[in-house]
Amino acid sequence: MKSKIWLSSPHMGSMEQVFVQEAFDTNWIAPLGPHVNGFEADLQQYTGAAHAAALSSGTAALHLSLIMLNVKQEDEVICQSLTFSASANPIAYQGATPVFVDSEQDTWNMSPEYLEQAIVDRLAKGKKPAAIIVVHLYGMPAKMKEIIRIAAQYEIPLIEDAAEALGSSIDGKKCGTFGKLNILSFNGNKIITTSGGGALLSEDDDLIKKARFLATQARDDAPHYQHTQIGYNYRMSNVVAAIGRGQMVVLDERIAARRANYDRYEQFFGEINKKGYRVEVLPEPKAYFSNRWLTTITVDPELNKGITREVIRLALEKENIESRPLWKPMHLQPVFAGAPFYGDGVSEGLFERGLCLPSGSNLMEEDFERIFEVLEKIFRLLPNPWTGFRQS
Ligand SMILES: *Cc1c(COP(=O)(O)O)cnc(C)c1O
Repeated sequence: MKSKIWLSSPHMGSMEQVFVQEAFDTNWIAPLGPHVNGFEADLQQYTGAAHAAALSSGTAALHLSLIMLNVKQEDEVICQSLTFSASANPIAYQGATPVFVDSEQDTWNMSPEYLEQAIVDRLAKGKKPAAIIVVHLYGMPAKMKEIIRIAAQYEIPLIEDAAEALGSSIDGKKCGTFGKLNILSFNGNKIITTSGGGALLSEDDDLIKKARFLATQARDDAPHYQHTQIGYNYRMSNVVAAIGRGQMVVLDERIAARRANYDRYEQFFGEINKKGYRVEVLPEPKAYFSNRWLTTITVDPELNKGITREVIRLALEKENIESRPLWKPMHLQPVFAGAPFYGDGVSEGLFERGLCLPSGSNLMEEDFERIFEVLEKIFRLLPNPWTGFRQS
């Protein structure tokens, strides 16, 4: 069996182990310490966010965001439907109801039109949404100008789920700095990883202080253990933060490598499309900069001689190459059945036709050769074992 080519695998630099060794040497093996502070400072400096709290996961950062916005049972929270379930699960942790909003075609993220429609309709039904969660999928920033305008007009706090978009920006302003509360993830397959971890970013110092307080079991200022609120164990450990500090050193290199992956795929499919196909990649809107965490394509079988994204996925899988359909929208997930949804099928269409291709920053030349060999067989080469037709 050929070695596995992963969708997105960890890619360590040279400093991670140095920082981890330092944590061991100084015995800072705790959910606090100099690397936690250093990692937070690195994140602030890199993103331009005024304040940052390093946490145990991106999900924890979202959960704390909703807690600090006082989201509770009976409340409704608007959330992008096309996303990973972790964007929406914290709404359920709070006993609140998610209201899902469809995507638009330019960025695949939350449609400003349907966002506004959702708000107007929820207001008409007598309930003002308690928060809006917008996501920058696969590194592509959402239409923040419009979304910020709508959130401000209806006075609804905005949470930015930038778990996939560290380093992405609009007009030079980094993702993770647009909302009232903004989250990052450093899970194993993200653009940089700490093995697992997350962060909360905000312009509001009080909110970040509050997040640190809640994330360390909500201990009041007293010599004994005194609590007036329910706390959580959501802080990042000093060892994990050491990995993060090492990863921050190479973040820009990782982004450059992922963007180069995208360019290679774009060029490849450009050639394929000259032969009568229409495989689409997602270009950056003007002034947008995507970290290209994952390169994604959409394949409409009607425009591609019957080839579906499943044909491609299974052919890659046979060669031990991992690819994955786009996120299945939350409004189609059994666990969120019955939740309100505003949209017209864009996210559903993307799920049906979309595929994430291997996109790691550590992909090697020979990996690309293997990937392209499979794709060439599907799209134009001789006897094709997967689609059974012959393309001249
Ligand atoms: C990864 C991810 C999260 C969750 O982050 P964790 O650190 O894994 O908890 C949330 N939202 C999106 C869009 C993600 O991709």
